[in-house]
Amino acid sequence: MNQSSSNSQILNAISSVVQNGKRGLHEPEFNGNESKYLSDCIETSMVSSIGNYVTKFENEISKFTGSKFAVATSNGTSALHLALVCVGIQPNDEVLISPLTFIATANAIAYCGGTPHFVDCESETLGIDPGKLRKYLLEIAKVESGRILNRKTGNPIKAIIPMHCYGIPSRMEELIRVANEFSLTIIEDAAESLGSLYRGRNTGTIGLVGIYSFNGNKIITTGGGGVLVTNDETIARKAKHLSTTARISHLWNFQHDEIGFNYRMPNLNAALGVAQLERINEKIHLKRNLHDKYAIALGGISGASLLKEPPGCRSNYWLNTIILDKVVSGDREEILRMAHEINISMRPSWELLNSSIPYRNYPTMKTDCAEDLSKRIINIPSSESLGLLENV
Ligand SMILES: *Cc1c(COP(=O)(O)O)cnc(C)c1O
Repeated sequence: MNQSSSNSQILNAISSVVQNGKRGLHEPEFNGNESKYLSDCIETSMVSSIGNYVTKFENEISKFTGSKFAVATSNGTSALHLALVCVGIQPNDEVLISPLTFIATANAIAYCGGTPHFVDCESETLGIDPGKLRKYLLEIAKVESGRILNRKTGNPIKAIIPMHCYGIPSRMEELIRVANEFSLTIIEDAAESLGSLYRGRNTGTIGLVGIYSFNGNKIITTGGGGVLVTNDETIARKAKHLSTTARISHLWNFQHDEIGFNYRMPNLNAALGVAQLERINEKIHLKRNLHDKYAIALGGISGASLLKEPPGCRSNYWLNTIILDKVVSGDREEILRMAHEINISMRPSWELLNSSIPYRNYPTMKTDCAEDLSKRIINIPSSESLGLLENV
């Protein structure tokens, strides 16, 4: 079959699922108690940093994820920054990440004065490749008085941030094994994967600390917001303290015991979050229905395949993703252009961070897999209502 007819078959399959539904990549949907709780905030004047919804939201996140503690923040990036500060990332520390992620993962490291150090991903989960990671560390790292140092830079390699890409859980068990071997702290960037399970456990709760984002395009939204989760009480207390300008709790005095941040989530946003979270299981159910619809529609079609959860995992299928079989120059542009013409939002993966302007001079291993994947990935419309059965 020639290429352009394959391209239009792929597009036809996707548009058969989208039909009369939402054509954006991911549109927020508010069909629960959102208005009620927001009105409550306004009627009681509790719109800012004081009010019950923040604590309620934190408790509900704990309950849903099975994490002991949750600290709500102004966004996912600030939660990640706090997480890195709380595990002790300091200037010149290196933190390992995949280049195939949203730029916030690297920015949070840079905010600490640390260095994002890029390692390759693998094609089944789009997460960090544990085998390549181990081989690379054996090559470039040395142990000196119990610390793991980068032989080249002499700087400590302290931590690793697995990111569960588009909701697909990374290979946590193998990554934990490598992390243990090299004494690396694991911080999970689960910004995209609230409700995704790795062997029955919620992504975000497997490492020492995890974060979720509630930006407008995530599976649940608080307008803007994030949360840090951990089972470690010391980290949780520190995160809460630092997120509230490190103010010493007192009824009227304003005293602070270190340089903190204003990273709190306002009550108004938390109210939205509480309402959204009441429907999280339904949302995940719809997302998974939508994935099944795409699987059927794209089933007999050559040229692209739908990214699926690996065995033993449940994805929240935050963004459904197709991967073109091979890189044919101009193909992906052609599909994106055709989609744009019929007003269907599709988009390529992010520019790889190790070739982005801010991070192209940072340490990196050869990232062949990430480079190949980044030319073949297309995210396709994934609003939850597309998963309603009537919409078939
Ligand atoms: C959305 C996202 C973030 C950051 O979340 P914000 O709430 O937008 O700050 C971090 N990492 C990844 C992978 C994300 O997708």
